[in-house]
Amino acid sequence: MKVNLLGASIDGIDMQETVKRVAGFVKSGKPHLIITLNPEYLFRAQFQPRLMEVVNRADLVTPDGVGIVWACEVAKHPVPERVTGIDLMLSLVERAAREGWRVFLLGSAPGVAAEAAQKLIEKHPGLQVAGTHHGYFAPEEEPEVLEKIKGARPDLLFVALGAPRQELWIEANRQTLGVPVAMGVGGSFDVIAGRVPRAPLWLQRLKLEWLGRLIKEPRRWRRMLVLPKFAWMVIKRYKLLKST
Ligand code: UDP
Repeated sequence: MKVNLLGASIDGIDMQETVKRVAGFVKSGKPHLIITLNPEYLFRAQFQPRLMEVVNRADLVTPDGVGIVWACEVAKHPVPERVTGIDLMLSLVERAAREGWRVFLLGSAPGVAAEAAQKLIEKHPGLQVAGTHHGYFAPEEEPEVLEKIKGARPDLLFVALGAPRQELWIEANRQTLGVPVAMGVGGSFDVIAGRVPRAPLWLQRLKLEWLGRLIKEPRRWRRMLVLPKFAWMVIKRYKLLKST
């Protein structure tokens, strides 16, 4: 079921259903883009039409985080649960190991993607890692990176270049790459590689993971300033103006 929030069409399905859909994408063999939509991205998309265009051209858009789930409730289009980038990546990797899907990790500082891949293989010994590459390549190196990914023939491509650059990058290159499933995963490789600790489970359960991240990575506070603006935008649109 598609749900409209501030002009973005979001898939109102849970994690299990999301993974099922992705399995269909892999089977089809055609390129698909998945976006895990967070409030920062959706807020920016209100002012940058290109960002909204990319969301609405994606094949699957998940509610990434408690802010989007809350906003969908306020808009009276509730979604079953949050489906964050890292959780979806981990669920897909688990499925990939069982199905024999090949995964490619692109992004993060040199060494991190390889380290994250190593950690994933330790957890899922059957996992087929088609390749890894860091995310600090110059524009003139891009053709080489594209060739490397194409040559590796992955089924799933995880891109950690930070939002919204990763989404724009995938959209610009997905036909060239021909990878069945590509998705942006932000700082997930740093977490998987153990470079940035994930918030403790009790904070995640209280839906306060963002608070944990803020404490561990204080540079985030600037970006989080957008959250109250996003909340106000949602309240204005759906409570005060009561439009759909
Ligand atoms: N990154 C990258 N190339 C760049 C800029 C960033 O590979 O030119 C990586 C960075 O190392 C980090 C990720 O992109 O691993 C972005 O993480 P962040 O937590 O800032 O992204 P978010 O989760 O907010 O999308």
